[in-house]
Amino acid sequence: MSKLNPGKDSTRGPSNFVREIIIEDSKTNKFGGRVHTRFPPEPNGYLHIGHAKSINLNFGLAAEFGGKCNLRFDDTNPSKEETEYVDSIIQDVRWLGGDWEDRLFYASDYFGQLYEWAVQLIKAGKAYVCDLTAEQVREYRGTLTEPGRESPYRNRPVEENLQLFERMRAGEFPDGARTLRAKVDMASPNLNMRDPVMYRILHAEHHRTGGKWCIYPMYDFAHGQSDSIEGVTHSICTLEFEDHRPLYDWYLDQLGIYHPQQIEFDRLNLTYTLLSKRKLLTLVQEGRVSGWDDPRMPTIAGIRRRGYTPEAIRNFCDAIGVSKTTGTIELSLLEHYVREELNKRVPRVMAVLRPLRVVIENCPENQVEEMEAVNNPEDAGMGTRKVPFSRVLYIEQDDFREDPPKQYFRLSPGREVRLRYGYFITCTGLVKDNAGNVVEIRCTYDPATHGGNAPDGRKVKSTIHWVSAAHAIDTEVRLYDNLFRVEDPNQVPEGQNFTVNLNPSSLEVLKCAKVEPGLRGAAPGNRYQFERLGYFCADADSAGGKLVFNRTVALRDTWAKIEKAQQGKR
Ligand code: ATP
Ligand code: MG
Repeated sequence: MSKLNPGKDSTRGPSNFVREIIIEDSKTNKFGGRVHTRFPPEPNGYLHIGHAKSINLNFGLAAEFGGKCNLRFDDTNPSKEETEYVDSIIQDVRWLGGDWEDRLFYASDYFGQLYEWAVQLIKAGKAYVCDLTAEQVREYRGTLTEPGRESPYRNRPVEENLQLFERMRAGEFPDGARTLRAKVDMASPNLNMRDPVMYRILHAEHHRTGGKWCIYPMYDFAHGQSDSIEGVTHSICTLEFEDHRPLYDWYLDQLGIYHPQQIEFDRLNLTYTLLSKRKLLTLVQEGRVSGWDDPRMPTIAGIRRRGYTPEAIRNFCDAIGVSKTTGTIELSLLEHYVREELNKRVPRVMAVLRPLRVVIENCPENQVEEMEAVNNPEDAGMGTRKVPFSRVLYIEQDDFREDPPKQYFRLSPGREVRLRYGYFITCTGLVKDNAGNVVEIRCTYDPATHGGNAPDGRKVKSTIHWVSAAHAIDTEVRLYDNLFRVEDPNQVPEGQNFTVNLNPSSLEVLKCAKVEPGLRGAAPGNRYQFERLGYFCADADSAGGKLVFNRTVALRDTWAKIEKAQQGKR
């Protein structure tokens, strides 16, 4: 992650309470000065921006303190896991800058060890085979206000438990017939401690162990011990696992094995966004989006395709920090960090999304001039380029109004504006089709204003972008709006599901856009600022001479703000 100076006394990382704990532990030598974290995804979906927060924290802290961070798949649930997810997760963590070196692990690699530990607990009288059905187990568990009841199988003799557990493993019983449960405390105020299930029977193929096992450990029985096996010092997880910590501690203490420290932090929630793999899967399965990497998705694959950069995501994660209370972050803050990064980094070019033909009447037919354009005013080192200027141009339809409203300063009949890096032009007439739409405007240019500067010092109120019609390249542009039209898409009216909150106009496809000729052959992933329009990224669908751009994020459009304010007043 952020390549900071490693060292135990680092003061350079983003300040947060997890970091404080690690600094304190280093001082007291709690883990012999070691810092070892891990990122433990379950491979049941693609990673999303919420996971990025955890990745940034875990890999970032390890990098800062000269420690290590593992990537471990928590693949204890055979029915939901697929290798497609494993592959995508590896790609995404790497893209975000996470470096696990040679420490890529799978909880399923520990199935043998976990089984032995289960046997150890049975022998110690701390675990028993229970014949209650799942429903009965729930019933016996009690509630927050009522203690649970003990299972009639709780006091089975050790020998019988050992035999039954062995037979469970041998495949003698159908799914759900029996479970192995920890013998903890049915009266505990913490429901997780009321004899939790450790193993269940599931005759299912596992993506790594195949048909070797037909009993699988519960997440809670696998997670803490996996951290212990890997020598993790700080097991950082989200707040919903706070109530599970006593159980992890109990398992580690009963087994007498190395004990990592669990620390919980707040999950990321974003406005207009859902961060739940299950719900994102629904969107994919129902075809509401084009796939996990649809640029409207909050998945890492989606926002990468959209044009977000790993640096911007890390800066965002550092800025929001971590805490002990869950809140919701404005999506616009994430967009702010994307803009901030791209503003410095990517070249600016001219593109016209909704073209309107402009004929410069006093420009000779075959004249082509190469105008000099600055690649990034924020960074002189990025140099300049040539853009062709000729008699027929395209400008944005929106940059012309036959009948301009007050405060509209762009082109209109009789008015003069500047063409960026071009000339001053004045609108002298317009051409309409039979339906009365303006299809072409006629202008004259002032050759003395070469480069867009008037030697007599006269001012124009507006500068607009353009491309030369004969030189421009046809391109498709995909504009995105929020995938959900409400701030909290989890708020759903009675009897409906979250898809009612989808924004029906989250995608707008413009088939006739034009970009300046320098963008010919732009490779997928190439990013640009289209002047005055926003940041754009060449899409993976660009191939064989076809160009497709995704709008990564819009620039803040001041005219749109004025217009909105005026509508508000009306
Ligand atoms: P989801 O609810 O999206 O399915 P999950 O918690 O089940 O997420 P895991 O694969 O178990 O997904 O998550 C891997 C790690 O990422 C965990 O440590 C988890 O705490 C963390 N994580 C998941 N979602 C978020 C989030 N929104 N914000 C911060 N961390 C998260
Ligand atoms: Mg999970």
